[in-house]
Amino acid sequence: MNTKYRKTIIAGNWKMNMLVSDIKPFIEELKPLLPKVKTCDTVLCVPAVNVPAMIRAGKEAKIACGTQDVSCHDKGAYTGEISAAQIADVGAKFCIVGHSERRAYHNETDLDVNCKAKKLLEHGVSPIICVGESLEQREAGLTMSHINYQVRAALAGIDAAGLRRCVIAYEPIWAIGTGKTATAEQAEEVCGEIRSIVREIYGARPARSISILYGGSMNAKNAAELLAMPDIDGGLIGGASLKPADFATIIAATGAENE
Ligand code: PEP
Repeated sequence: MNTKYRKTIIAGNWKMNMLVSDIKPFIEELKPLLPKVKTCDTVLCVPAVNVPAMIRAGKEAKIACGTQDVSCHDKGAYTGEISAAQIADVGAKFCIVGHSERRAYHNETDLDVNCKAKKLLEHGVSPIICVGESLEQREAGLTMSHINYQVRAALAGIDAAGLRRCVIAYEPIWAIGTGKTATAEQAEEVCGEIRSIVREIYGARPARSISILYGGSMNAKNAAELLAMPDIDGGLIGGASLKPADFATIIAATGAENE
């Protein structure tokens, strides 16, 4: 983390878990465990139908609400889709785009990810743009070229003002939901590369200011080590964000000595 120049963000990704009735008890359990002094921005990205309940419950605990996907289309005959305008309308402040599960199970392309990010920006919602390599790509030495391609594709046509609202999450596919975390060094290497790519496109200041998160089996035990890295500005957390005590421990880990 480098809190002098950028925000530290801990974002939970609840995926397709939890009911509306689970939200209040979750926040009530989490709240007393949170650090007294705020050391990061906290977000919970929940299923779209849970957004109003999360906004209500999260207010007092200062937890912002995000969703997990958005349509590329503005409105119309797209059954089942949810637009950026609708996401903004219910008060969600963030939305994950390009999560590897959506890329894998819904054939989301880099073009879709770019389109989705732009739609969100048009409506003042911050995209959390996910990028990451597969195990095969890592083993073939293709991690950096793949990340380079994904980051440039996701940011194509987004101006510097738009970039200021973007968050990028490095999520190696092989580490998501597997219990296999990237080492702090591996995660730092790629997050540093992402910052270099942003620097090449937008210049030094935007690169210094953008928050780059790590995601992939981050948990209460390994969070502090990952967050101590200079280019890792927080986490996108799946499994551990469903457990109040673990999520609180990760949030508290952002309070460790900063550089
Ligand atoms: C995720 O789905 O974004 C994620 C990082 O999941 P997990 O923490 O469970 O690996």
